[in-house]
Amino acid sequence: MELEHLPTTPECIRNVREWLGERPAKPLAYVHTFGCQLNVADGEKLSGLLQEMGYALTDDPEKASLILYNTCAVRENAEDRVFGTLGNIKRRKQEDPGLIIAVTGCMTAQEQVAEKLKRSYPFVDIVLGSNAVARLPQMLYAHMQGLRHAWDTAVSADIPENVPTQRESSYKAAVPVMYGCNNFCTYCIVPYVRGRERSRQPEAILDEVRTLIAQGYKEIMLLGQNVNSYGKDLPDGMDFPALLREIDKIPGDYWIRFMSSHPKDATPALMDAILECDHLAKHLHLPVQSGSNAILERMNRRYTVEKYLSQVAYIREKCPDFSLTTDLIVGFPDESEADFEATLELVRKVRYDNMYSFIYSKRTGTKAALMPDPVTDKEKSGRMGRLLALQREIAVENNERFVGRTLRVLLDGESKKRPGNLTGRSSENMLVECPGTPDQIGTFVNVKITASHSGMIEGMIV
Ligand code: SAM
Ligand code: SF4
Repeated sequence: MELEHLPTTPECIRNVREWLGERPAKPLAYVHTFGCQLNVADGEKLSGLLQEMGYALTDDPEKASLILYNTCAVRENAEDRVFGTLGNIKRRKQEDPGLIIAVTGCMTAQEQVAEKLKRSYPFVDIVLGSNAVARLPQMLYAHMQGLRHAWDTAVSADIPENVPTQRESSYKAAVPVMYGCNNFCTYCIVPYVRGRERSRQPEAILDEVRTLIAQGYKEIMLLGQNVNSYGKDLPDGMDFPALLREIDKIPGDYWIRFMSSHPKDATPALMDAILECDHLAKHLHLPVQSGSNAILERMNRRYTVEKYLSQVAYIREKCPDFSLTTDLIVGFPDESEADFEATLELVRKVRYDNMYSFIYSKRTGTKAALMPDPVTDKEKSGRMGRLLALQREIAVENNERFVGRTLRVLLDGESKKRPGNLTGRSSENMLVECPGTPDQIGTFVNVKITASHSGMIEGMIV
């Protein structure tokens, strides 16, 4: 059976459904997604397709007759976790040879990973390259036809449209607006495993958002590796600020968030759109990665610390309240103590509300993997500790600014630590806790903030 000559996706869905229909009860599928929100969005499509083909979803891999791992390749520890999990599942496959094991996502697109899968995990039945979610029914059909290894690791240039989606939440929805990345930051594997930038048609995005809002969704998260590049590949030239303004015109009680923005493309037009659109949340995630110009250059980030600070100043001047978060990499190859001090200095200047900081992870195939790196792991973890301590201090001080104020909050769960309390996120993306009842989850409330802590603020619904 040739993987290129399989029937279309709808035909394969029908065929698999018929095949599964011969069983007394719906078989169960377990989907585990690793990594970023774009991967989570892919996972929701993979789950939707599995349901369409006749599976019911389960949270328990032990009960499943199909197990799918949707993988991430951004850092080595994400890959190690996948290999560890696959090692553990080998026993189940030996006990139940009918169990179907599938691996999808970013990891599969790397040659050395595909080799390792072949060599050490030959019991994996289906391997599907990144961006190819819509091909899952075909791979399952090929497996059902007796193909021992339905493995296709090609990076697809597909833009999945109209794929059934099983959303994890009934009030927060992720909407990818573009796929891929053209930036080639020297540390990053994403452009290699996700391919070049491809924007969805604006009408397809607007239709999806309209439908979600009509269904009662309260938060729309627009996703892309670099959302500010949206539209550069579209002939009619709608850019990301224009897309935001179009979405904002859709009437309803909801807010829009988006990530990630690349500072090289964070133009005043984007900032103005965020500040002027009524539905835009008061939060911008602007990953800086380093506070040293020398490191930013070696990272190929194509902005300077001064340019970044001028963007922060622009937004803070117009809206002092605005919340800013970032991503930072500690221990990029040959990062000196002075480079790291420059990062601390930048963090002191910007005073982020939150940050995601990572120790540099060497990714085979990237330019940075070839750079000499004399800095020891011990030094890198020491720097990480210092960065986290500084951020904690800043967050405690920052959070105090909310005490006494009333914030709009989307409630999204029950507090694990304090029974009777609910948790939610304010427009500024602050974690908020307040007394409430589970029926309020998924609704907007106004919360008067009474106290602040390092990781969250608390208050009472008013
Ligand atoms: N496109 C987004 C951007 O440019 O900000 C980020 C996407 S990336 C999946 C998320 C974050 O992972 C990056 O902002 C970076 O901080 C981190 N990251 C990417 N490659 C990494 C590496 N090799 N080692 C450590 N962190 C890395
Ligand atoms: Fe990776 Fe840079 Fe692209 Fe973000 S912009 S996905 S960090 S290459």
